[in-house]
Amino acid sequence: MLAETASRMGYEPHVLAHEDDPPAGRFAARVMRAALDDAAALAALAESVDVVTFEFENIGFAALAAAAAACEVRPAPEVLHTTQDRAREKEFLAAGGFPRVASERATSVAALGGAIERIGTPCVVKTAGFGYDGKGQVVLPDGSDPAGLEAAAGLVRAGPVVVERYLTLAAELSVIVARGSDGALASYPPIINRHVGGVLDVSLADPRADGVSSAAPGLDPTLQRRAQALAAAIAAALKVVGLITVEFFVAEGGELYVNEIAPRPHNSGHLTIEAADTSQFEQQLRAVCGLPLGSTSFASPAAMANLLGDLWALQEPRFSAALAVPGVRLHLYGKREARPGRKMGHLTATARSLAEAERRVLAARQALQGR
Ligand code: ADP
Ligand code: MG
Repeated sequence: MLAETASRMGYEPHVLAHEDDPPAGRFAARVMRAALDDAAALAALAESVDVVTFEFENIGFAALAAAAAACEVRPAPEVLHTTQDRAREKEFLAAGGFPRVASERATSVAALGGAIERIGTPCVVKTAGFGYDGKGQVVLPDGSDPAGLEAAAGLVRAGPVVVERYLTLAAELSVIVARGSDGALASYPPIINRHVGGVLDVSLADPRADGVSSAAPGLDPTLQRRAQALAAAIAAALKVVGLITVEFFVAEGGELYVNEIAPRPHNSGHLTIEAADTSQFEQQLRAVCGLPLGSTSFASPAAMANLLGDLWALQEPRFSAALAVPGVRLHLYGKREARPGRKMGHLTATARSLAEAERRVLAARQALQGR
């Protein structure tokens, strides 16, 4: 979607991906295949372009730093370094006084036990690096579940982990903020996210004129404004040039915590393509290319539903049935293989009210599976 936008705006994107035939390749002037920690390949990419950016976090820091020696990399490799490791990210949040969930880093099975004891249960053990879509996470409801403890020990044997208090959540929000090279900031209104099994399922946005979403009933506008302010402060503290997405937890009691930071366009922001004046992809391009940031106002309420590979298990999804629902748009990423849990595409619905947008997007997704 980033390459597609770049191509529309007259750029000639060069794409480096770790797979053959990457979806972005369709919109690219040139495609290179390389491992994402291949410093020579990233440096070669950097030599062939004016600016390098990324939309995936599992890139080797040293390789990205090698690219930065050849041309401007935005966001800077240091931003990726901070955010791609959960333990470092939490240290950054702690140093800046940003609200975060109690957690502790552990690097050995022996240390893991102590960390679980101090954090208390329920807790969740997460790999510090290279996790996404809930992968590399084990929830421990209590300290006496041998299977859970063994799974957590397996994680720490593979690499450092963080042990984090497991919260009962009232809601999850994300705020996307762009920051230009001149320090200008532009935040989108908060997006409300629902996850299933650790994977984003549905995102909702219903911004009123004051830039506050009313999508989550009972979600205090003050809290939403606070999330926006925190996200902007985090973007400024990171000195990011480009986009960040800050994921927030709203706990049962109404407390707001930063869950994690993604220095890239975010799945929850896909609905900005249809609903916002400037999509998150165009906004990232504008930021990294030194153009003025675009308006982050929304033209209408919107709802987004992810399409996972599971939908392909029994039959080809019935796209025509989904597209018969008014106000619905289909996005398929062009991934060749539909595996369970793999994000293959999404649907976005816009409507006059958020309730109607949500109804439409869920009806359309349901229709995909009809007979
Ligand atoms: P990922 O990198 O896979 O997005 P996250 O840490 O954001 O990892 O976890 C994915 C989802 O799992 C969250 O959006 C949330 O729904 C749930 N989750 C993660 N950590 C916690 C926690 N400490 N308490 C409650 N739910 C959590
Ligand atoms: Mg997350």
